[in-house]
Amino acid sequence: MRNIFYERFFNTPKKQFRILTIKERNQVSVYAVCCGKYVLNSFYAAWCMLCSIMEIYWNKSVETMEREQIRAIQLERLRSTVQNVYASVPYYRDKMKEKGLLPGDIKTLDNLRDLPITTKQDLRDTYPFGLFAVPMEEIVRVHASSGTTGKQTVVGYTRKDIDIWAECMARCLAMEGADKSSRVQVAYGYGLFTGGLGAHYGTEKLGAVAIPASSGNTQRQITMMIDFGVTHLCCTPSYAMNIAEVLWDIGHTKDDLKLKAGCFGAEPWSDGMRAEIENRLGIRAYDIYGLSEIMGPAVSHECRYQNGLHIWEDCFIPEITDADTDLPVKDGEAGDLVITTVNKEGFPLIRYKTRDICTINYEPCECGRAHARMSKPAGRTDDMLIIRGVNVFPSQIESALLTVGEVQPHYQIIVDRINNLDTLTVNIEISEGMFTDNIRGIEDFEKKVGNQINSVLGINAKIRLVEPKSIARSEGKAKRVIDKRKI
Ligand SMILES: [Zn+2]
Repeated sequence: MRNIFYERFFNTPKKQFRILTIKERNQVSVYAVCCGKYVLNSFYAAWCMLCSIMEIYWNKSVETMEREQIRAIQLERLRSTVQNVYASVPYYRDKMKEKGLLPGDIKTLDNLRDLPITTKQDLRDTYPFGLFAVPMEEIVRVHASSGTTGKQTVVGYTRKDIDIWAECMARCLAMEGADKSSRVQVAYGYGLFTGGLGAHYGTEKLGAVAIPASSGNTQRQITMMIDFGVTHLCCTPSYAMNIAEVLWDIGHTKDDLKLKAGCFGAEPWSDGMRAEIENRLGIRAYDIYGLSEIMGPAVSHECRYQNGLHIWEDCFIPEITDADTDLPVKDGEAGDLVITTVNKEGFPLIRYKTRDICTINYEPCECGRAHARMSKPAGRTDDMLIIRGVNVFPSQIESALLTVGEVQPHYQIIVDRINNLDTLTVNIEISEGMFTDNIRGIEDFEKKVGNQINSVLGINAKIRLVEPKSIARSEGKAKRVIDKRKI
């Protein structure tokens, strides 16, 4: 346990280090914190390899602006957005009238809390174009959600909205080191889903080469990655794992790739999965966050310190609220992420309840960006399982599994109710060559995994080891959970 008893800052022309005096057991040591790691003595920190790489920004003046400047922009844009929706969207006008609010009542950023919350149900109730704030003549594109849990939701973009989206995506790609010389394979699905086209337009804005591979046909994806010298990959984390596996199966290794980094999103994933992807593809794997209702991918993205995802606060105002009461939680506490868009024209949203659970950190980051960082979302409340009264996110089970060696990141969670009692079974693939006649060894291994899940979640799970490659592979969003209680 490290016990910090003195903190100061040390400035070099390029960055600021935190110098910590720490008491460990009975010994006092001085550390510099660099790249999120503790480095003994500030001299070494100044020469840290990662820090010697100049930070790349797409739009430096906006990305590194001071918090006060961000707040000023947010207030100005929020007021104009509220004026706009009051004048153009009957739904918002009615909601504001119910609360006795006029656009002029928004005088400070704290007044944001007075505005109504928007939910996914509101989008369904106004299907298809009821929340659009401009005439259809000004809309140049629509996207829609998959509609697996009800009527699909439709979002619209003006030409300026598409530009802003591409700008946000270009900033994200630059954060992972991409520039004009990069070749970006977009292996998200192209279509009504925002992943493919969102990443594509951002890549073109950056001036890099966009390779619109879309999802599927994994062997062809790999051939293109090798032949075209692809440097960056965009897809879901489960598809990245699938690509890594097929790469190996067809006789290649990560050394055949020129891949440097990838941004993976559209489904929750654990740090254990990150380590697997980084190791198997020989890259740095970054988390990217977004949702079609707000814009699509590129609402937030990790910088190279991988210590939270920077939200582009000049476009989006985040709040963290209690999932049940919608009231703000205490600073630093986890809750439901609520987002207000402040510069969208076609489909502005006021206080949209994303149902993603995370925390927000407003401390400036070592990368030089002041835009707030959200924690990697554990999952969406819609995906949360309640097993014997315990709230469980599939990503927590993933995280527990991957801390046990020899477990493959291919698993399926089966929840059932037998004799009025919830049961949790986790099918896990074991690696090739691990199946032996040694039943005792398998039993011990199952026990080890079961104990790990129990220590993290506090519930018992039945572990079933299954043969390699027996769990279906994902080309988009992985289907990790079968909840038989709902069938
Ligand atoms: Zn950062």
